[in-house]
Amino acid sequence: MKGKTMILSSLVLLSAVQTSCQENEFGTIDLTMPEEVYVPVEAEYTYNHPCAMFNQADFDRVKKSLDDGTAPQAVKDEFAALKNSRYTLKSYQPTVLEYIVRGDGTGITADGKEHYQEAMNDAAAAYQMALLWKLTGDEAYAEASVRVMNAWVAGCKGIKSNDANQMLAAGAQGYTFANAGEIMRDYYQNKNPQDFAKFKEWMLTVFATKNKDFMTRHQGTCDEHYWSNWDLVNMCSYFAIGILTEDDEMVNFVVNYFYNGVGNGYIKKLIRGTFTDPMGSGESIAQNQESGRDQGHAMMSVAVTANLCQMAYTFSLCNPSVSQLDFFAADDNAVMKMGEYTALFNLRDGADQDNKIGSWLTTPDKMPFNEFRYCVDCACKDKNHSAIHTAVANDEGRGELRPGWEIFYNHYAKVKKLGSGYKYAKQAADKMRPECGVDGSDRYGTNSGAFDQLGWGTLMLYRE
Ligand SMILES: [Zn+2]
Repeated sequence: MKGKTMILSSLVLLSAVQTSCQENEFGTIDLTMPEEVYVPVEAEYTYNHPCAMFNQADFDRVKKSLDDGTAPQAVKDEFAALKNSRYTLKSYQPTVLEYIVRGDGTGITADGKEHYQEAMNDAAAAYQMALLWKLTGDEAYAEASVRVMNAWVAGCKGIKSNDANQMLAAGAQGYTFANAGEIMRDYYQNKNPQDFAKFKEWMLTVFATKNKDFMTRHQGTCDEHYWSNWDLVNMCSYFAIGILTEDDEMVNFVVNYFYNGVGNGYIKKLIRGTFTDPMGSGESIAQNQESGRDQGHAMMSVAVTANLCQMAYTFSLCNPSVSQLDFFAADDNAVMKMGEYTALFNLRDGADQDNKIGSWLTTPDKMPFNEFRYCVDCACKDKNHSAIHTAVANDEGRGELRPGWEIFYNHYAKVKKLGSGYKYAKQAADKMRPECGVDGSDRYGTNSGAFDQLGWGTLMLYRE
């Protein structure tokens, strides 16, 4: 939908400067500082598809470097790994569930207990084969990707369970399927416009309605009851589906949520304090909302944030006048600082980064931490689940890095060319490269954590 009028809207924080009452000829005037007023973004957008995780220029650059052999070895290695993924077999056959059931450990739902692995597998397969279609031109990948999506549209009626966990599936599998559809859209549409239209409708009814409901109501709890990841995967999904369906209101909803939402995906709630690096680099580092919970979730929060920022930034390239789309830059690169805090605490010292008995780059007592009061005196009906975090969580999941560090490193070092501020993200990316993604091997396993982020960042983003 090129050529639409762009309405430039800006983030304006209105505030008065005086803080007292004054009298004049008209009587007493209250000049007390008002609450900061957020002016919502109400932009109309241009969609130069594909424009979610990656755009055509990204695919052209990577394909050319693979074709002419100039790609860095790590990119070639990750390309080989993607072709060897169990999710990119050209003969891949989907296994469709009538209902995706996530949660419901007791089996109260009529469809039985928790049952969603097939949706994770097939969404990842559709996405990974879409990448390979773009990078190889091999139509067998395109056929297989569309076959998976069509099968789900035909057979899956919804997502449910008797608890909130279904919202994680609505988010994580929502943005994976939506990005697959976005990459495949030209092929999909040319092959059968009705099928592509049905796919978009399926994304809206099965996923987007849940995403919006979650971000709006949070299951009837207080606004901050759900950890940041719950908001983030739903923001990713709603944003990606907004691009897929060219729905300006959906995109604006997520932009406004990121800058002014009620839950923990709101940048000022996602990030809970900014400090100076205790290791003396001079960098700023920023505590994640889940830093005191456990490192697995804190690293998920960082990885999903990276995916969200990457989509928003790619979309900003077709909408340069909407400066708010650069989530990476928001609040003075706050997302980069959050990455630094998390990487610093999860990296090992020395050359052998995987040596479990090696020392850590930093110790818990050195990590600065703002006390975090979780659901203390909150509006939740259940009053018995509050927690107070007073230090960074030093749990067993520490050090188990997820893919996503290439997004941080590439953006701040290569796109923005900042020169500094991403020291630990670089170390994490260097350690993991090629970072790959879920492929059925031991590296990330096949539990839900492997599917929370799209992965394959070395292939698509790394450059020397
Ligand atoms: Zn609460």
